[in-house]
Amino acid sequence: MKYIFMTGGVVSSLGKGITGASIGKLLQLHGYKVNMIKMDPYINVDPGTMNPFQHGEVYVTADGAEADLDLGTYERFLDIVTTRANTNTAGHIYQTVINKERKGEYNGGTVQVIPHITNEIKRRFTAFDKQVDITIIEIGGTIGDIEGLPFIEATRQFMLEQKKEDVMSIHLTFVPYIEGAKELKTKPTQHSVNKLREVGIVPDMIICRTQYPITDSMKGKISLFCNVPEEAVVEARTLKSIYHIPESLHKQGVDEIVLKRLNLKSKIKFNHKWLKYVNQDTTNYKTVRIGVIGKYADLKDAYKSIDESLKISAMDAKVIADVEYISSEDKNLIKKLKTFDGILVPGGFGMRGIDGKIAAIKFARENKVPFLGICLGMQCCVIEAARNLLKFKNANTTEIDKKTIYPVIEMLDEQKDVKYLGGTMRLGNYESDLVKGSLAHKLYKTDKIVERHRHRYEMNPKYIDMFKEVGLDVSGYHKGVLPEIVEMKDHPFYIAVQFHPEFGARPTKPHPLFQGLILAAKARVK
Ligand code: GLN
Repeated sequence: MKYIFMTGGVVSSLGKGITGASIGKLLQLHGYKVNMIKMDPYINVDPGTMNPFQHGEVYVTADGAEADLDLGTYERFLDIVTTRANTNTAGHIYQTVINKERKGEYNGGTVQVIPHITNEIKRRFTAFDKQVDITIIEIGGTIGDIEGLPFIEATRQFMLEQKKEDVMSIHLTFVPYIEGAKELKTKPTQHSVNKLREVGIVPDMIICRTQYPITDSMKGKISLFCNVPEEAVVEARTLKSIYHIPESLHKQGVDEIVLKRLNLKSKIKFNHKWLKYVNQDTTNYKTVRIGVIGKYADLKDAYKSIDESLKISAMDAKVIADVEYISSEDKNLIKKLKTFDGILVPGGFGMRGIDGKIAAIKFARENKVPFLGICLGMQCCVIEAARNLLKFKNANTTEIDKKTIYPVIEMLDEQKDVKYLGGTMRLGNYESDLVKGSLAHKLYKTDKIVERHRHRYEMNPKYIDMFKEVGLDVSGYHKGVLPEIVEMKDHPFYIAVQFHPEFGARPTKPHPLFQGLILAAKARVK
């Protein structure tokens, strides 16, 4: 079993997840089985309750854990399915230790950060032992953060306990460009590596995030001051697509250095297929304009997986996806909607912006614009059809209007008594059976699907037949009763789903629903 630790320095948001996953991808292309673990130093037990404005989208694992969006990067790069074992927070780790303490499992001992918290962290580093060849562990935050210390300490101990050739450390830093001096500066990198060495970790490789090329002399300087061989000082320049990063690292020999350091040899002839696929020449591609009508229009990270799913499908359909995020409260919403070849209404919570979403769905329905609705997006489709086609005045979801006389979206009876936030949610994988002959069935090309969920409310089965009469068909059911998918008759492409298909897309394997949307949008572009 081999382990690679990824730490980051200088500033946050450098892309540790993407860089780690890119290295993981290269190791896969050498024939190795790879998984990746996230360690988040914050105290929230999971990010489920965190505001997407602050933290970006909440990712959902197959077994229903609410997780950091980096897990999506792991899934897309490595083509894996993540579970609870891939996501850890300080809060979850402390909770585990405190629960044990309450049960008396420490036999009256004093429970401390070292060794009890660090032992729990170390235990989690080994979650994928025997399942894969290499685990990449991303330590969240920036070196020097107080809350990151137990994680760094656990890493130090772990590295000492393992054979040297079984574990390595990669440090991602930032090399800023100073406008006045017209120069890239390596000093922050030196400081950051010093900080790392102070807590006992000597990096084997330094990856430098930069806007401009790093010269050999700068690499020499970093190598000298940071005590890392020159060839292990690597440039990570901002590229046009994140999927170009593995190739850029490969060209700098990163995979060779990692394999050598871990005393591994390439298991197979290096497989270039994936790199070629994500590096298409797009010069002659048409552009399709997709509008995403949501609540968090200013923060693309809030719709990270949707964005990636659209781009992955575009790659496959050989078009460029120009994705624009518009607030459903935008005053010029309808004017803007007219410029799109496809419209997507994503998931969300709470009532803000609902009317705009409903207006966007009505627009897509009436003007026959290809449309995909996701989760709250599907619920808004049902409300739109209820109000505008069935003429159910003030039809609503009980999430917004508890007293509506047309509760077309509702909480199931058995859920109503549960009070805890999170406790009432349908989370993770659930099966649906698809109705033969439906658009869903055509797109998925199968009778049964499994998709990830994250919602409390459901389409009220009581109204299914009435909706059918006005053209809105249910085309997927969970256990034969709960509507999972609706689609509109006599429309080139209109489908909406209660689950989150955006967690299922991978480069080379686009998700059928996003693929359908992009192809329908492509068909409209001259
Ligand atoms: N707020 C809705 C519900 O809880 C939809 C959730 C979502 O879009 N993820 O059912």
